[in-house]
Amino acid sequence: MTPARDVELVWHDLTPRLLEVRRVHRLSPGMVRVTFGGEQLDGFCHAAPDDHVKVFFPEPGAELPVMPTLGEDGLEPPPPGSPLPVYRDYTVRFLRPERRELDIDFALHGHGPGGSWAAQARPGQRLGILGPRGSNLVPLTFDWYVLGADETALPALAAWLERLPEDARAIARIEVANAAEEQPLTTRADADVRWLHRERGETLAAELTGLTLPAGDGYVWVAGEAGGLKPIRRHVRSLGHHKAWTEIDGYWKCGVVNLDHHEGDDRE
Ligand SMILES: Cc1cc2nc3c(=O)[nH]c(=O)nc-3n(C[C@H](O)[C@H](O)[C@H](O)COP(=O)(O)OP(=O)(O)OC[C@H]3O[C@@H](n4cnc5c(N)ncnc54)[C@H](O)[C@@H]3O)c2cc1C
Repeated sequence: MTPARDVELVWHDLTPRLLEVRRVHRLSPGMVRVTFGGEQLDGFCHAAPDDHVKVFFPEPGAELPVMPTLGEDGLEPPPPGSPLPVYRDYTVRFLRPERRELDIDFALHGHGPGGSWAAQARPGQRLGILGPRGSNLVPLTFDWYVLGADETALPALAAWLERLPEDARAIARIEVANAAEEQPLTTRADADVRWLHRERGETLAAELTGLTLPAGDGYVWVAGEAGGLKPIRRHVRSLGHHKAWTEIDGYWKCGVVNLDHHEGDDRE
């Protein structure tokens, strides 16, 4: 019998939560893991490796973030005259419900409210989160998985590898600045993992546009800088790969602030 190959999108209740930083751990020169905690994590839903939340940052000098205004369809513009919330998308790296803790891995790229906040994060500070709004449940029964990420999508790629079962075959390509940015990854799958170093001129686009897809049914998941993903999207399409088994998402865009809408994903 052929295993089910339907990708299911499940929706979650949208609850704004105010959380406190419990720990800050430097994963590499350019990446920091912030552990948030609090009673408001009760009922938080997390079901897929690329589940993400909107993180609400305080304005510089403020203690608390401006929290979202919610309507029936989710986020709404705040009432006229009230301060604007400042938020960006981040992946749920780990959730430990029994300890009411949630980890987010932030890329320290030196710009923007997200990158700047993460560089100074310390225990006791508070942030808001909203989401995940939905989870994309991809069956773990495909013959193979092609995974690609830069630093911003590495938290989701690492979670993908952790979830794949023993009999899964995975090809994972991860673009980072240099060898110092490599992180330990764990998987039970038969995985061919290769780190690409921008320092050596290696990129996801160059690597993945040269890729031949294995035989059988497979799922392609790639995320990172939007411009660099375009040739990959074209390449995968040219190979005739099933659209429903392809997810290629722009997680940020070079030179563009607050990429609120990410290409190829209808969960936000
Ligand atoms: C679904 C989803 C999940 C995501 N998960 C994560 C995650 O777990 N960890 C994570 O670090 N990011 C993640 N991102 C990416 C993150 O939301 C963006 O990088 C966002 O722009 C960061 O906001 P900022 O305030 O730091 O910068 P912004 O104010 O948005 O941008 C300021 C400037 O910085 C540039 N910039 C933004 N990000 C980067 C970068 N990574 N490297 C270099 N320049 C950059 C912009 O082009 C712009 O010029 C995710 C994005 C999406 C859509």
